[in-house]
Amino acid sequence: MSFDSLSERLPPVRGRLMENAALAPFTWLRVGGPAQALFIPADADDLADFLEATPEDIPVFVMGVGSNLLVRDGGLPGVVVRLGPAFGKIAALDGAQIRAGAAALDKKVALTAADAGIAGLEFYSGVPGTIGGALRMNAGCYGAETSDVLVEAAALTRSGERVTLSRDDFGYSYRHSEAPEDLIFIEALFQGRPDDPAAVKARVDDITARREETQPIREKTGGSTFANPDSPVTHPDGRKSWKLIDAAGGRGLMVGGAQMSELHCNFMINTGEATAADLEGLGEEIRRRVREDAGVELRWEIKRVGVNA
Ligand SMILES: Cc1cc2nc3c(=O)[nH]c(=O)nc-3n(C[C@H](O)[C@H](O)[C@H](O)COP(=O)(O)OP(=O)(O)OC[C@H]3O[C@@H](n4cnc5c(N)ncnc54)[C@H](O)[C@@H]3O)c2cc1C
Repeated sequence: MSFDSLSERLPPVRGRLMENAALAPFTWLRVGGPAQALFIPADADDLADFLEATPEDIPVFVMGVGSNLLVRDGGLPGVVVRLGPAFGKIAALDGAQIRAGAAALDKKVALTAADAGIAGLEFYSGVPGTIGGALRMNAGCYGAETSDVLVEAAALTRSGERVTLSRDDFGYSYRHSEAPEDLIFIEALFQGRPDDPAAVKARVDDITARREETQPIREKTGGSTFANPDSPVTHPDGRKSWKLIDAAGGRGLMVGGAQMSELHCNFMINTGEATAADLEGLGEEIRRRVREDAGVELRWEIKRVGVNA
């Protein structure tokens, strides 16, 4: 599968612009077709100029490290933006604040906060994505999430205008944000609280160890496939997707090369040769079974993008 060239319609850039670029290697699930064009901007000005000059009918999609992304087998029409090292800076500020670029890895943010004696961001050590993905997904774990620590974020609109969003502008709920889909986040400011660096680091290490034990983190997976029907942050005793999937006989279920993990049955795995269609088909079969078994409509947490082959 390959797309027509877009080069005649795209402006010159300082960063890297590639056509028919494979995306599967950049996602945890390792499936799916190419991007019609893949753009890695040199910096925020390069990205803003590109967005301003790119015709509006060309779709633009931004990805992080693809830890929550299922790219369909036919690939993604339009431009996919991946933020490079210029967007990866992290700084600890006075007043127990952290400023981080959208391409910074969550785990590095947690470790920088720990080194600086800033508590509250330890949970990021359990999320294998970037800050951009965390802002979009309200990422979190073990009772804490992005909305608890976010002060504000800078973003570019589809036309390249720079805007600032406060935490409230995100309209956050469990693993979900109401922020306009076409915004590309470029930087975030977080508020923590002062603490002893060794104590913060110990909590980071504890989260890392718990992950190793309970999740198939060395597999080709997309993390939780479905959001919990009730937020564990606000309803600690609420309904959990994995319990519903287990009760409906979903643990270990396979479609082609796709399988619901035996270790954590809300995690779907590419066992080797899965296609995106296998993975999406498995997810829909799970939704059907849970609907029949418990009358609950599971909501996809993994973002499915692109077109079928
Ligand atoms: C093993 C494993 C464990 C996981 N555990 C957790 C967990 O405990 N808690 C949790 O919350 N999640 C978890 N996840 C899911 C995933 O890590 C998070 O959703 C993460 O926030 C996604 O970040 P990403 O950079 O990989 O984004 P991607 O998967 O690349 O993209 C996800 C979404 O974010 C958007 N996005 C990415 N960057 C930007 C940006 N700069 N501006 C605007 N939108 C952007 C994309 O458009 C897409 O809609 C897990 C995943 C795996 C594979």
